[in-house]
Amino acid sequence: MIKKIVIANWKMNPNGRLEAKRLFAQTKKIASSFPKVNVVVAVPFVYQSELFSGKKGKLLYGSQDLFSEEKGSFTGEVSAIQLKDIFVKYAIVGHSERRALGESDEIVAKKIRTALRNNITPILCVGERERDDHGSYLEFLKNEIRKSLTNISKTEIKKIIIAYEPIWAIGKRGKDAMSPPKLHEMVIFFRKVLTDMYGRDNADRVTIIYGGSAESSNVGELMRGGEVSGFLVGHASLSSRDFGEIVRIVSGNR
Ligand code: PEP
Repeated sequence: MIKKIVIANWKMNPNGRLEAKRLFAQTKKIASSFPKVNVVVAVPFVYQSELFSGKKGKLLYGSQDLFSEEKGSFTGEVSAIQLKDIFVKYAIVGHSERRALGESDEIVAKKIRTALRNNITPILCVGERERDDHGSYLEFLKNEIRKSLTNISKTEIKKIIIAYEPIWAIGKRGKDAMSPPKLHEMVIFFRKVLTDMYGRDNADRVTIIYGGSAESSNVGELMRGGEVSGFLVGHASLSSRDFGEIVRIVSGNR
């Protein structure tokens, strides 16, 4: 059975160490209160080594990105080996905000392989910019998944989390998130794409989560109706009250 998971993506927040420490301590408490859910926090690189150095409790450490190469002269980049050294267990890969800066599916595929080699679980983000009446967004998503998973084997696919994040739903209010029935359709679509690539048994064991204006107001119905195993949470992860409520609701579902 796939364990439920909620990932806090702080993005480029907050603006100072003190606030980061405060929010981190609250997130840690939330993780300890709901042990049925894997709670992961992906903080900005600059705060990682300080925040990830104390006692972990139940909280799992995540990264918002990692570099495709393991070592070498790559100014400004952070490697999987360095992340592993500070106990990072999950890395977001191919977030739409990084793809918008020029990250291609080929780079994403390389990052996934590097993460797996270092026992870091990649959270592969996929999502369409907009929808059309002819369904070409489905073709786009199929290609994005296939290319991002280049050279990923049947054994490895089960170690990857797929975060479906329709770009048009990111950074809005809860009511603008995808509807549960539409999300369910998409989860079926992703399982079909994965089945064609890896066979039914393997496809059924891949964790699929949703991101895009997930808030405490909508995660219950998205989880039940959408049949996802959890959420990638952006803005709502910056409020411990909202984030705690999200994890509580996820914990109580299914
Ligand atoms: C995200 O960008 O990963 C995200 C889910 O953001 P938000 O929750 O703010 O839509």
